[in-house]
Order: sequence, then structure tokens, then C-alpha cells
Amino acid sequence: MTDDVNKTEEKQDNYEEICYICRRPESKVGKMMKLPTGICICSDCMQKTFDAMNNTPFPMGGIDISGFSPFMFGGGEMPKSQKIKKKQPKEQPAEDAGEVPEGVFDIRNLKPPHKIKAELDEYVIGQEKAKKVMSVAVYNHYKRVYDKSEDGVELEKSNMLMLGPTGSGKTYLVKTLAKLLNVPLAITDATSLTEAGYIGDDVESVLSKLLAAADNDVDRAEKGIVFIDEIDKIAKKRNAHSRDVSGESVQQGLLKLLEGAEVEVPVGASSKNAMVPMTTIDTTNILFICGGAFPDLENVVKERLTKQSTMGFTGELRDRFDGDKNLLAQATAADLREYGMIPEFIGRLPVLFALSPLDKNMLIQILQEPKNAILKQYKKLLAMDEVDLVFDEGSLEAIAEKAMEKDTGARALRAIIEDLMLDIMYEIPKDDAIGRVTITKDYILNNGAPIIEMRTNVTPLLTGE
Ligand code: ADP
Repeated sequence: MTDDVNKTEEKQDNYEEICYICRRPESKVGKMMKLPTGICICSDCMQKTFDAMNNTPFPMGGIDISGFSPFMFGGGEMPKSQKIKKKQPKEQPAEDAGEVPEGVFDIRNLKPPHKIKAELDEYVIGQEKAKKVMSVAVYNHYKRVYDKSEDGVELEKSNMLMLGPTGSGKTYLVKTLAKLLNVPLAITDATSLTEAGYIGDDVESVLSKLLAAADNDVDRAEKGIVFIDEIDKIAKKRNAHSRDVSGESVQQGLLKLLEGAEVEVPVGASSKNAMVPMTTIDTTNILFICGGAFPDLENVVKERLTKQSTMGFTGELRDRFDGDKNLLAQATAADLREYGMIPEFIGRLPVLFALSPLDKNMLIQILQEPKNAILKQYKKLLAMDEVDLVFDEGSLEAIAEKAMEKDTGARALRAIIEDLMLDIMYEIPKDDAIGRVTITKDYILNNGAPIIEMRTNVTPLLTGE
């Protein structure tokens, strides 16, 4: 019991105190005065309060600090979500710190690209090129983070831009990557970001999310990953008659974060206001990955390729690129500029690659092969009821075909499986004698029921004899 208390106290101790009046952390304002009610006040604010009291026309007499009550400030102790973790003293090298922390926080734990890719392979089907590019980019990024040499060769940041249709695994790749590198990850949607001063989240809000994902540990957050999805939605509108400023200004706002800047961010909230403590985050070592479906970018690529290939000819090849599914993979920075991304923005995302649309075979693989494949999950659930769940060959194909029709990539798979498993998950536990359920193509196409087989050596619970 007392051990637990000590542990919580120790944990508390890892967080900085925040001045209750000005909301600045201890690292900024120095040692604070702790009042009996648990509130901390920095010496500046304490002084200002005394000055203000001394300047009041009424005689105050001696000031009794115990008279301060949390209610005067509108609350009790600072909530944990708004406390900032104390910085580790810089002088202590990691070698002396005893155990080496897992993940990329020590260069000795940094995995080489082939190992990163091998781990990604366990979860993500296909997308070979994307996995390879990402593994190398991430490896280089963290090498850059640990580069302390002063030879004048500055390694460029490997922020990435990922193009790929909906449901092709963009978010999933980034999530898997962050998990296996053991770094904090913040995912945000570009459409929710607005220029400072407008309704919506400021671009800095992504850093608040990252800080929260890092348990308010600024050091960890500064080596994390930020994924900004739907980045194509902040493209300037092409051929618009009026000047479109909203998307462009968000791109402008993101520039400084992508490049590396010290940014003041609210702690434990997404917007700045007087009651929220602030801290500074340096984004130099944060890896930014942007992703988007970029609908119509294919047309831009097609136009360019057609123009190139018909140069000097009579235009007979005009439809040569129609129906080419891999046009996105040939997109260049120039195409993205044409699409409406500003050149400075594209310039700060030097690693550009595309994910391929998922075909039927990939969808079948996604159903059953990844480490946490959805079919494995259902099999496990039914195995707990001692029932064997089998999907026959035809059923997998039928599910994949159904998913292809929805045009939302692998996202459609879960919805289809959940729908068809509902009845099975409801009915099977009713009967202890059921030993195996086989899902068939006919069941998927609503032409029949699944095949139910009984256990051969069941001992009925009540024999009646
Ligand atoms: P988006 O490209 O729209 O961000 P997601 O990453 O959200 O797509 O994919 C949706 C879901 O589909 C993921 O949670 C994952 O389970 C599955 N998925 C998509 N692509 C793959 C893939 N290549 N391998 C394994 N699972 C995938």
C-alpha cells in the first residue's frame, strides 16, 4: 500500500509544476512556491500579487499565504493532462543511464531498413515499394536525429508524401511503423486544420496531440511521427475564378512545422486559451508523413505523359494511358504543383511515393495473412467456444469481389465480414454440440446457409439417464 503511494508520488515527481497564475512551467520560471492547497505560484506572479495588494487603497495588514484557496483561481490541483514531464538532465549520457530504452530513443536500438521492412511485411500486404521507401526514409531520419558530427554536411529531413487510394493502407502503414519503432504518433486530418484565428484547429494542434501521445514528455514527442491525412483536401482549387486562400494558407502554416521550428503549444488541449499551460516543442526531429488519395491527380499525370509521348507525332497515342492503374506511381513534384500544392510545401516532403490500389488477390491475402488478420480474429473468438471456423476458397473470393464493388479498398472487408458473422456469432453459442462452421460462397451471395457440423464425440451435458 505504502509502496503504491510512493510510486504515485514518484510518478507525480516526473511532471513539472505549473504556475497557477501564468501557466508557465517550472523549467521556464524557476523554483515555485507551493501553497498548502497544492497550488504552485512562481516568484514573478507572487511578487505581482504582493505588489498589487500593496498598491490597493485598503489597508491589508500582513499577508497570510494560507488564506489562498484554490477556489480563488477556479479549481483544485493542476490536472495531470496539463502537466509537462520534466526534461532529462542533458549531461547524463545514455550509456550511464543503465537500461537502454526500447525503440529509436537510442541509436543502438535503431533497426536497419531490411529489418523494418520485414516487420512491416508481417502486417501489411503488398505495397512493396512503399514499405521499402518508408523503411529507408525512417532509418535515415533517425540517423539524422542522432548525428552529432560537425563536418558541415547537413542531412536533409526525410518527411514523406504518400499517395494512394482510400483504404489502400496509408494510415495502417504509418500506425504499424510507429508501433514497431515505439515512437509516439499523432494522426490528424488536414481538413480539420485552419489558419490561425479561424474556427477549427490551428496547425499547432497536431503537436498538442503528439505531446499527449508521448505522455506529455517533450523529449519523446520531439522524436515522434505526425501523420497528416487527406492532405489533398488543402490543395488550391484549380481553375477557380476567385483566389482560394483557405487551403493554401493551411499549407503555408504547415511549412514551418515541416521544416523544423520551435513552436509554442498548449498542453492537454487543442487550442490556446488563458487557462491552458504552454510548452515549447522543437519540430526539427519530428518526422512528418502526409497522405492523400489525390483524386484526379491521375488525369494530371496522364496529361503530362500524353503530352510528352505525342510530342512531334500526330496524337495517335492520346488514349495510351487510359485505364492505367499505376499512374499515381508516376506522379512527380511538378504534377503535384499542377494539382494545387504549393512548391514550398512539396519541397519540404522530399520522399514521394504511391501505394497501389488493392486487387482481388491482395484483398484475399489481407483477409487471412497479416498477423492480426480479421479472419484470424474471428477464428480465435469462435475457438473460445470450441468451434472451428472455416472459410472455403470460394467464400474468400466472393468476399473480395463484394469489397471491390464498394471501392473503398480494404476498408470494405471489415464491414462485410462483420455483417455476415453477426448471425453466426449469435446462433453458435446456443448449441454446444456444434463443432465446425464452414462459410461458403453461397452464404456470402445470400444463396444458402453456412455448413454446420456437429462434434463427433460430444458428451451431452444432460443424458437423462
Ligand atoms: P487509408 O489508405 O485510407 O488510410 P487505411 O490504412 O485506413 O486506409 O486502411 C483501412 C484498413 O484496411 C486498415 O486498418 C487495415 O486493417 C486494412 N488494410 C489496408 N491496406 C492493407 C494492406 N496493404 N495490408 C493489410 N491490411 C490493410
